Amino acid sequence: MVDRRVINAAGAVLEERLVREFERALHGKVIRPSDEDYDSGRRIWNGMINRYPAVIAYCSDVDDVITSVHFGRDHDLLTAVRSRGHNVAGNSVCDRGLVIDLSRMKKIMVDAAARTGRAQAGLNCADFDHATQNYGLATTGGIVSRTGIAGLTLGGGIGWLMRKFGATCDNLLSVNIVTADGQPLAASANENQNLFWGLRGGGGNFGIATAFEYRLHEVGPVLAGTLCYPSDKPGEILRFYGDFIRSIPDELTTMLAYVANSSTTSLHGLFGGAPVFAIHVCYAGNAAEGLKVVKPLRALEPLKDDMRITAYCELQSMLDSSAPPGLLNYWKSSHLKDLSKGAIDVLASYCDGITSPLSQVHLQQLGGAIGRVGEDTMAFGHRDALCVLNIVTKWHDPRESEKHVEWPRNLENAMRPFSTGGVYVNFLGEEGEDRVKSAYTPAKYDRLVTLKNKYDPTNCFRMNQNIKPA
Ligand SMILES: Cc1cc2nc3c(=O)[nH]c(=O)nc-3n(C[C@H](O)[C@H](O)[C@H](O)COP(=O)(O)OP(=O)(O)OC[C@H]3O[C@@H](n4cnc5c(N)ncnc54)[C@H](O)[C@@H]3O)c2cc1C
Repeated sequence: MVDRRVINAAGAVLEERLVREFERALHGKVIRPSDEDYDSGRRIWNGMINRYPAVIAYCSDVDDVITSVHFGRDHDLLTAVRSRGHNVAGNSVCDRGLVIDLSRMKKIMVDAAARTGRAQAGLNCADFDHATQNYGLATTGGIVSRTGIAGLTLGGGIGWLMRKFGATCDNLLSVNIVTADGQPLAASANENQNLFWGLRGGGGNFGIATAFEYRLHEVGPVLAGTLCYPSDKPGEILRFYGDFIRSIPDELTTMLAYVANSSTTSLHGLFGGAPVFAIHVCYAGNAAEGLKVVKPLRALEPLKDDMRITAYCELQSMLDSSAPPGLLNYWKSSHLKDLSKGAIDVLASYCDGITSPLSQVHLQQLGGAIGRVGEDTMAFGHRDALCVLNIVTKWHDPRESEKHVEWPRNLENAMRPFSTGGVYVNFLGEEGEDRVKSAYTPAKYDRLVTLKNKYDPTNCFRMNQNIKPA
């Protein structure tokens, strides 16, 4: 028997007629446990998350978001907000309560002359890129194209264009949100400036974003692809990478990945499943210049080199196959000051003991434009790091979870001496209050608490990397 009851945070059962009223008021669709599409509706990208909400409200418009916020709040329901469900922590779905889902709000308008784009929160990076590339325009997005623009932007947004144009949130011009009391508000450099400061990095703590306006840039085909190197001399490749990324112009953004088993990725069949170091690159500028800049990568005699001039949208989906939905995922991340000898030794020794063939260790290079924005400009920060370490563990069998969770924890722990102490909020799992604080400086965290006190004093939006009101 499927339990259709809606139970609030205090354990009381909500009268069925109230749920029916809500259902009738919504322009979009409500899904409940006995519905055919409930099971697919409650699933998100990370297969580790297996929760059973009582109501999933697929919103069609801003009115639906407002109606849903009132419904959740009036009846004290635990409320999760989901745009594309692509966050590893899994906060976009909850047990028992209400999921407010924006994935059907997917309108986008591009003003090519003004080079701006106004996008609803339900788009993912692929949707956004295809619409803006129709005009030869783009702004920084994530490196896996199914990632939702909403979670990405509210947490910061790092990707292939960040060293040239800054983070996604650096290109944000305005946001429309619905606050915890069901009020629609706009925030920008001219309106609700403090809130705008917090929405750029503070995640979903202050309300539900319904639309974003971005600055766009001319982005034509890019020089991009992957170069693979053998894994038998990890110290050498890591040392080379550390030196190389300090010497390159803003047009080039790179990411090094230790790939535990090459046959689990698009490198399939090339190296008989051997582990490899992959350096993924994107040069967003004059290709002839780019070819000069990447020469040292080619001089290192890669096993494979598919770098070529390619459409921007193609680059944006280049890594999709290595991050399919539904696998069990556990990530640990931190910002690295440097790739010192000590850091390289630790990384090299741990890579050897990686527990799952599906796992990877990423070093995502920062610097350039993203590093030049003042730390206090917005909540998103820690811009002085050399790179972001992201230990991405994936596996199929839930019986193996313990070992696959332990390995990244141990590696991240061993890397602490080389970390700036900072972490990127969008790469956090469910790791507790102190780790959320690590995403910000203490002064910024205090400012975020002040904003939370103003816009969500009862912590209605707490299914997130939560900033608790005082
Ligand atoms: C495979 C993979 C690759 C990734 N690559 C990158 C990358 O290259 N660069 C990068 O910066 N990040 C990357 N990320 C992290 C990504 O930015 C975050 O996971 C982001 O939260 C995903 O956005 P979403 O809208 O799909 O999130 P969801 O899972 O839908 O939501 C996550 C959280 O964001 C908040 N939220 C979502 N929508 C709204 C909204 N409309 N209003 C208010 N709050 C909201 C809620 O708190 C929610 O719990 C990646 C994640 C994955 C899984």
